[in-house]
Amino acid sequence: MTTERAAPAINPWHVAQQQFDIAAEKLNLDPGLRQVLREPRRELHVHFPVKMDDGSVKVFEGYRVQHNLSRGPAKGGIRYHQDVSIDEVKALAMWMTWKCAVVGIPYGGGKGGVIVDPKKLSRRELENLSRRFFTEIEVLIGPEKDIPAPDVNTTPQVMAWFMDTYSMHVGYTVPGVVTGKPIALGGSEGRNEATARGTVFCVIEAARHLQIDLKAATVVVQGFGNAGSIAARLMSDEGVKVLAVSDSSGGIHSPAGLDINRVIAWKAEHGTVVGFPGAQAVSNTEILEIECDVLIPAALENQITASNAERIHAKIVAEAANGPTTPEADEILFRRGLFLIPDILCNAGGVTVSYFEWVQDLNRDHWSEKVVNEKLHEIMTKAFAETLAISLREGAHMRLAAYLLAVQRVADATAMRGLYP
Ligand code: GLU
Repeated sequence: MTTERAAPAINPWHVAQQQFDIAAEKLNLDPGLRQVLREPRRELHVHFPVKMDDGSVKVFEGYRVQHNLSRGPAKGGIRYHQDVSIDEVKALAMWMTWKCAVVGIPYGGGKGGVIVDPKKLSRRELENLSRRFFTEIEVLIGPEKDIPAPDVNTTPQVMAWFMDTYSMHVGYTVPGVVTGKPIALGGSEGRNEATARGTVFCVIEAARHLQIDLKAATVVVQGFGNAGSIAARLMSDEGVKVLAVSDSSGGIHSPAGLDINRVIAWKAEHGTVVGFPGAQAVSNTEILEIECDVLIPAALENQITASNAERIHAKIVAEAANGPTTPEADEILFRRGLFLIPDILCNAGGVTVSYFEWVQDLNRDHWSEKVVNEKLHEIMTKAFAETLAISLREGAHMRLAAYLLAVQRVADATAMRGLYP
């Protein structure tokens, strides 16, 4: 008989609202504004049929949420995952609002998701699902209204299908309706690496602030999708030793350091990092507790919680994922002197280059990768410096500092526009 019970799942929407409440309180935000910003503006819930390869029809469920539109059109990715829920999408949409405000790009926040494990679909089923889902949410979508992008398990190819679907409906090609497209269809140079590159720019700034020599440093990365795998590679390019990485199947650990290009090649061949020769197996919870200089959670929400925050042994926690740390864990890490770079700053490189992509599309322009990376660097280092200044001034951790900056910007825009009618 076992007396152990699984801990109740943490609801990301409650986390998002709690983070907002802490900032709103500290900012002494007007109660009316507080009520407005505490809830999403629009939530669309769809059920839609998809023709499967065996001829059957399967109905899937998905969402598109717009949290706030005060500073511009809604912006945010679409995620395909079996655990997607309306509360997760609402949280992710709210986080997009703050993220766009932290880096000062002219968007509100949105997010979408479909409850599906895309690894179980054929390519044709994935295309059918993508086109029909996009059709269903199109009432909200448009280059001036709401611009989706990749997120967990969605790729440039999926963006190409979204763009084509919208374009077929209006009768002409509209590249600016989604970002993260393949370069040949109006995608931006550097977009694919942008989330990870922004994270690494933040880590470099944090290391400078803390006087950590990255050439002698170590990193652990949880998650090996677009953000995690590229962050591991870029960190290794910076001379940092990669001790451990993981994906949804499990992790690998090598105290001597992993050759990250070989791990990427292994994953491409085997579909997982697990089994990589010469490395020890490690679980997705154990990996977070490996002693290192930089820990990069790059997977899903609620990985660092009150139950393991005391056992995190990193100097810098760089959140490439959205929502990996709970508010209780924030306090524990802060008390223990860990320097956490919060998601709404740390992974904002993705949406920043999405913004560049959208600007290029609207202007029928194409910038070089050098120009994109320089502009990204400028925006990320400015946002980091502004956040750090608030953190030092207020004696607050970096998440609260980023929230103070972002919530104030959105509150100002919302208040200045006034209440309609
Ligand atoms: N899904 C990414 C994020 O969470 C990118 C969103 C975008 O580029 O619009 O920030």
